[in-house]
Amino acid sequence: MTDFQRFPGRATTLGEGMQIVRLLPTLGRRTIGAWCFLDHFGPVNVAAGRGMRVGPHPHIGLQTVTWLLEGEVLHRDSLGFTQPIRPGQLNLMTAGRGISHSEESPAQRLPRLHGAQLWIALPESRRHGEPAFEHHASLPRVEYAGLGVTLIVGEAFGQRSPASIHTPLVGMELRARASQETQLPVHPAYEHGVMVLKGTATVEGQEIAPGELLYFGTGRKALGIETRDAATLLLVGGVPFEESILMWWNFVGRNREELVAVSREWNAGIDRFGRVNGYDGERIPAPLPPWAAEA
Ligand code: MN
Repeated sequence: MTDFQRFPGRATTLGEGMQIVRLLPTLGRRTIGAWCFLDHFGPVNVAAGRGMRVGPHPHIGLQTVTWLLEGEVLHRDSLGFTQPIRPGQLNLMTAGRGISHSEESPAQRLPRLHGAQLWIALPESRRHGEPAFEHHASLPRVEYAGLGVTLIVGEAFGQRSPASIHTPLVGMELRARASQETQLPVHPAYEHGVMVLKGTATVEGQEIAPGELLYFGTGRKALGIETRDAATLLLVGGVPFEESILMWWNFVGRNREELVAVSREWNAGIDRFGRVNGYDGERIPAPLPPWAAEA
């Protein structure tokens, strides 16, 4: 099969000036299953300065998946959770109808930070529901051929991640310690995206390095993954998301009016998003969408 696409990431900044690479959404691809956002940050030296600083900001209509290879991030949210996350652990925040949170490097920290934040669009049946937060300190791990597989969300290899999800999807870390070649079984009803966090790999004959996304359509039973040296990849997949979403800033909605209204609600400080306690800094105001009527 040749139905793959290669997408370059684009450099952007996160919070107070951290340089990151955004791989999704991108021109020509909005979603992979319900995955609607893929950010790769680092590896970056956070020994000097204040490290990651993303002040209180809101979300609706999505789940955030935070995954680290190195370092530590401290999450605080309007439900009252204050949760550090370290490599191999999962922070999963379900925004539902509204939540706010901050993310920062802790005061005492390792010099390097490296990870990814991914968003999952919530279906209509869940997106108006209550916000929630889960921390999973350990996740199912299996060895498959030459790859160490950590199941972040979803099911694979007879294992199921404890993370709560609301549409059929999967997310896993694939870690090669050395040269290897594996036919990794995948769900044929899922479309998939592959990003490399560390090292390089060849997936279905396509070389890939950090900062690029490879997309594979449905109908595949396996993905051939070859590495010549140690490498760490993220594989995301899911049944193509049929609902038409619209994203603005930190919001996943369905139409322009909703996104204007929710941006104004955050800026007006209404209760919907709660309050983040303990972050030493200002909340981030929502930029109004360009289609917002002057009023
Ligand atoms: Mn956020």
